[in-house]
Amino acid sequence: MKLGWIGLGNMGVPMVTNLKKAGYELYIYNRTKEKAKELIELGAIFKETPKELTESVDVVITMVSDDQAVREVYTKESGVLAGLTPGKIAIDMSTISPYTSKEIAALCAEKGVKMLDAPVSGSVAPAKAGELVVLVGGDKETYQTCKPIFNVVGKASFYLGENGAGSNAKLAINSMLGIYIQGLAETVLFAERAGIPRDTMLEIVKLSAVGAPIANIKTASIIEDQYPAAFALKHATKDLRLANEKAKEMDIQFPLIEKTFTTYNGAIQSWMGDLDIMAVLTYIAHELKK
Ligand code: NAP
Repeated sequence: MKLGWIGLGNMGVPMVTNLKKAGYELYIYNRTKEKAKELIELGAIFKETPKELTESVDVVITMVSDDQAVREVYTKESGVLAGLTPGKIAIDMSTISPYTSKEIAALCAEKGVKMLDAPVSGSVAPAKAGELVVLVGGDKETYQTCKPIFNVVGKASFYLGENGAGSNAKLAINSMLGIYIQGLAETVLFAERAGIPRDTMLEIVKLSAVGAPIANIKTASIIEDQYPAAFALKHATKDLRLANEKAKEMDIQFPLIEKTFTTYNGAIQSWMGDLDIMAVLTYIAHELKK
């Protein structure tokens, strides 16, 4: 099975590295070619456009920023759709709206191609370890065909139903992530204002029932107050916006999802979007001073 991969950002590079090491023949494309350097050295073959890449492979996988990026990569003149022929498989692993997932799946179907939405839970560290959780919507037989791929990048995959179901599950889990990270930030700041140092409070969190792997992952950056992006705040904000849109469509108001979106949106307005999600702590600390 020849694989094509589009999108070599924080997630794409470690995921492709694992697939290459697992022995797949891999073709890659990224808008910014320099980011492909280390994978080319590993033996992946760079193609100049998504169309050329798609023509060369059996399965094409996209892992790009957002809905707009997925639409562009698929529909532009030299895009994925232009290279698809019946029998190929398309997988989108980006976190996007379930509506866009369905729309792209319909466009693929016109080409005789089955498309899966397969976003992942887990950030850069699980991506490097091949321990993501893959959330899949689309044709069940196609999911079974692609399961070996998901087994390389992830520790588990879930088949959840028709197209859009994977994206819905991803928005649900990332709502919890957004809420937890804001909760962690407020806990640390609350303690700090009450005279308890960050490292002590984080040790208490770690040993208590409310500790979680994500708190452990973020501990060093909170203590150092440095937030280089593993999961960019702008992407977390996008996910909360999409979750709110889905909630509105279901005619439900989720108070914490709404409130968390407002906080994160404020943070990206303050030019923190390219920093890590945990930088929301800096934004909240700044707002407390007002
Ligand atoms: P990232 O580091 O910001 O990389 C984004 C990728 O998308 C880059 O390869 C970028 O290309 C490409 N891209 C953006 N706009 C494009 C366009 N218009 N046309 C073509 N390519 C475009 O993002 P990431 O952290 O890898 O995340 C990728 C996706 O996974 C996002 O949907 C994110 O929400 C989701 N996700 C992220 C994490 C995480 O922890 N990072 C975890 C789970 C899911 P350039 O290099 O040219 O800019």
